[in-house]
Amino acid sequence: MAEKKKTAEEIATEKRQKELTKELQATKERLRYSKRQIASVIDLNKCIGCQTCSVACKTLWTDDEATDYMWWNTVNTQPGLGSPKDWEKMGGGYKVRFEGKVREPIKGKLPSREEFGEAWKFNYEEVYTGSSQSAVLKPVGKEPEWGVNWDEDQGGGEYPNAFYFYLPRICNHCTYPTCLDACPRSAIYKRQEDGIAVIDEERCKGYRFCVEACPYKKIYFNKIDLLGQKCIFCYPRIEKGVAPACARQCPARARWVGWVDDETGPVHKLVKKWKVALPLHPEYGTEPNVFYVPPLAPPRLDAEGKIEEKPRIPLRYLEYLFGPGAGGALKILKVEMEKRSNGQPSELMEILIAKEWKGMFKPFDKDPLTLTWERKKKG
Ligand code: SF4
Ligand code: SF4
Repeated sequence: MAEKKKTAEEIATEKRQKELTKELQATKERLRYSKRQIASVIDLNKCIGCQTCSVACKTLWTDDEATDYMWWNTVNTQPGLGSPKDWEKMGGGYKVRFEGKVREPIKGKLPSREEFGEAWKFNYEEVYTGSSQSAVLKPVGKEPEWGVNWDEDQGGGEYPNAFYFYLPRICNHCTYPTCLDACPRSAIYKRQEDGIAVIDEERCKGYRFCVEACPYKKIYFNKIDLLGQKCIFCYPRIEKGVAPACARQCPARARWVGWVDDETGPVHKLVKKWKVALPLHPEYGTEPNVFYVPPLAPPRLDAEGKIEEKPRIPLRYLEYLFGPGAGGALKILKVEMEKRSNGQPSELMEILIAKEWKGMFKPFDKDPLTLTWERKKKG
């Protein structure tokens, strides 16, 4: 059967649609472009789950009524359902095809406030100034059913081979941010100077397509100002040569910050040279710029309590989180630890031990107190 001939109007509409698609792609490419990329590495062998990073971030950026339920930095126990609840099953990200050339967006779910967990109110007055001596601190109002760190220390495995570890998470400031692609207002962009992904609050209309699209579920909806909001990698600090609060405050010296392309810096060395720092869920296709040193663990014990030469944390689980490089990273860590305990030098161990904090953040190693001093002097 002969194909119906297109009218001149149909041909013109098709042409215009193609032009618009091309224009949109060019806009997205421009918004995604950055001259350099800042990144962070988190060593899961050093993280003690103290939440100092979460609180440092909260007190700095999300401490008002509109942002009260937001935790731009979360630390969850693994294996666990995390924040928001069961986020790894919510979709988003890309299906990457043809050697990384084609990225097809995957439809994601919009997490509910309940899945994030509300900002609870506590009975402080009753406990601190009330007459009852037996009052205990507890949330008031509706009984909470989920929260930001709800499944803390539950872990996995069976006794005597139970295990858990902590997973701090922020926005990954991805090289291919699905949030940026999904925004019909082109309100999300990567800063050209450092690759930090930010939301332009003037342009944002609160549609929440970005929240659905981010596979890490690291964008929150501000229901008072009707905006998407998320980690900004403390860029006002970065601009002054100071590391983000989450990294700077970490008492375990578990977090590094630096340029990915600085071959002399610890971030480049851990990610590119030693290949012990891996992205979380690389299969999401966004190319995250937060990397993790996977956790080592004691070997398994058999029924008689004898040591088995098998890993306590199943490698399959670590590969699920950090991709196929997890096993190789653990081997490198073990070899270098062995070298160091035999008195041999190991560049990798020196970096990971981090005796000198300034070396962890170069060139973002200024003392934040100097900022106050500068501001006071100007004022
Ligand atoms: Fe966007 Fe999510 Fe990547 Fe952050 S982690 S840049 S919010 S896709
Ligand atoms: Fe882990 Fe450091 Fe955060 Fe504490 S401050 S939870 S040690 S990353």
